[in-house]
Amino acid sequence: MKAEEIKKHLDKLFPFAECELHYNSPYQLLVATILSAQCTDKRVNIVTEELFKRAGTPHEMIQLSQEELEKLIHSCGFYHNKAKNILKMSKELVEKYNGQVPESLEEMQTLAGVGRKTANVVYSEGFKGDAFAVDTHVLRVSNRLGLADTDDPNKCELALTKFFPKNHWSELHLQMVHFGRYKCKSQKPDCKDCPFESMCKFKTKM
Ligand code: SF4
Repeated sequence: MKAEEIKKHLDKLFPFAECELHYNSPYQLLVATILSAQCTDKRVNIVTEELFKRAGTPHEMIQLSQEELEKLIHSCGFYHNKAKNILKMSKELVEKYNGQVPESLEEMQTLAGVGRKTANVVYSEGFKGDAFAVDTHVLRVSNRLGLADTDDPNKCELALTKFFPKNHWSELHLQMVHFGRYKCKSQKPDCKDCPFESMCKFKTKM
């Protein structure tokens, strides 16, 4: 199936795919994305509702102690490392970037706790740039559809960015996340009426 056909089907399935994390600034999106590792967006939104009342900017965040922040984000899991990274990253923003998240993908990735996927999410969602963030859903869906054949998110990103036109990367990321989250699920994908059945390498018998 060609790139345009895949996009058309995803447009039909998810015409209004949006980022499900709640945020009011690129900084808050960055914090929420760090918290979302191995955690659901729903849980992250519950946690950030309280967290951002206390500390919604890097200047406010660095007023918190490691212990205070750990308590606030405890239910997101991996709270010790996440708190450490959020505090270090916030300090770096205050000291080097005047409290602003840099708009460059390269600079973002120099910040504590910010890997390629997180930077791509913030760049495309927060700054409306063209980027194809590969999370667990995008990776799984790409492999099932034969768009990639790898466990490595970076190699998957390279394959996707070669296959799809640049102006579709950010929207396709959101649509593939929704497709993976609600239809092409990890354990029991809902293959009934899936438009990608003919190209799928993993369909289940319904
Ligand atoms: S047929 Fe099933 S496994 Fe394959 S892409 Fe569709 S939902 Fe996913």
